[in-house]
Amino acid sequence: MIPYGRQWITTEDISSVVDVLKSDFLTQGPAVATFETSIKAACGVSHALAVNSATSALHIACLGLGLKPGKHLWTSPISFVASSNVGLLCGAEVNFVDIDPETLCMCPDKLAEALAAAEQAGTLPHIVMPVHFGGQSSDMKAIHALSQKYGFHIIEDASHAIGAGYDGARVGDCRYSDACVFSFHPVKIVTTAEGGVVTTQSEELATQMDLLRSHGVTRNPDLMTREGDGPWYYQQVELGLNYRMTDMQAALGASQMTRLDEFVDLRHTRAEAYDVAFADMPIQIQKREPENRSALHLYPVQIMAQGADRPVKRRQLFEYLRANGVGVNVHYIPIHTQPYYQNLGFSEGQFPAAEHYYAGAISLPLHPQLTDADHAHVINAVRDGLKETGLS
Ligand SMILES: *Cc1c(COP(=O)(O)O)cnc(C)c1O
Repeated sequence: MIPYGRQWITTEDISSVVDVLKSDFLTQGPAVATFETSIKAACGVSHALAVNSATSALHIACLGLGLKPGKHLWTSPISFVASSNVGLLCGAEVNFVDIDPETLCMCPDKLAEALAAAEQAGTLPHIVMPVHFGGQSSDMKAIHALSQKYGFHIIEDASHAIGAGYDGARVGDCRYSDACVFSFHPVKIVTTAEGGVVTTQSEELATQMDLLRSHGVTRNPDLMTREGDGPWYYQQVELGLNYRMTDMQAALGASQMTRLDEFVDLRHTRAEAYDVAFADMPIQIQKREPENRSALHLYPVQIMAQGADRPVKRRQLFEYLRANGVGVNVHYIPIHTQPYYQNLGFSEGQFPAAEHYYAGAISLPLHPQLTDADHAHVINAVRDGLKETGLS
């Protein structure tokens, strides 16, 4: 089975981890700072904090920006459940803004409409969290302009988008946001096995998130309420968590980061060849903006069938592809249709563009180690599967 995504681990990656295992520190040693420096350099940002997952990174970003009961967080329904779960974990109210049917990212026009209505109702969001679906940046300029008008914070869920470009710079530089989060799960662009990083240009937010990732405890005299008792002294000044990344993971991440551009370039080579092959097939691909270069975490396609046929035919094509060695997947089941969210009061039909996309969606294999043979196999299987299921 050709997997939809897969890590690429070299002997250099392995020896960098083994070196840590032989060193004095398995955690809280020098590797985390090295990894963070590599992210700062890649993104052109002043602060980067590594933690044990992107979910943790999103959580401390929300906490650091003061999300709490009575406040609202809005995100995209086409994301992994972690994007909205972190809002619930802060005790906040969560809502969604529907996607643009072509870019599959949060639609700025629908955001503007929802903000105008929320202003009337007195329920404006404290945080808006666009999701850079598939590695393509959301329309950050438009969302940022709305934040200026309505006064909300922005956290980019860029779990898919390390190495992506936006507006002539790199995603992660936080030019249009308070914070930006990357995931380093093995299927993402760069991996640390499990891991996340949050970037920000705000020194204040960085200090707060640094406390939150490690118990709210500090050894920095500047952050203490009084002079220490001696060299052993530390103070707890916040209520924090243990979200720290280990040095083994950070060493893997730093080694992987040296190949970031190669990873993204290889994804582009494969994706652009898919674009050409699918141009004459009845499937819709994600709209990408060449000037805002996607990191291409995913290659999602939609079948053209409409109505009740759409989910039925999607399932047939999905099963055909799996049966023929193509490890397809579906990203994502709209979050508001999950039972947990339905129990909170969300219902089917609330975000029609997300639901329509989901009913026809399949993610095809895309990762830097796809061979020419794998690639040709996927294209042929899609062509045959479309015929087999009566879609072409
Ligand atoms: C993977 C992912 C997450 C969660 O990342 P973890 O590192 O597994 O916690 C959050 N949001 C999106 C959009 C993701 O794809």
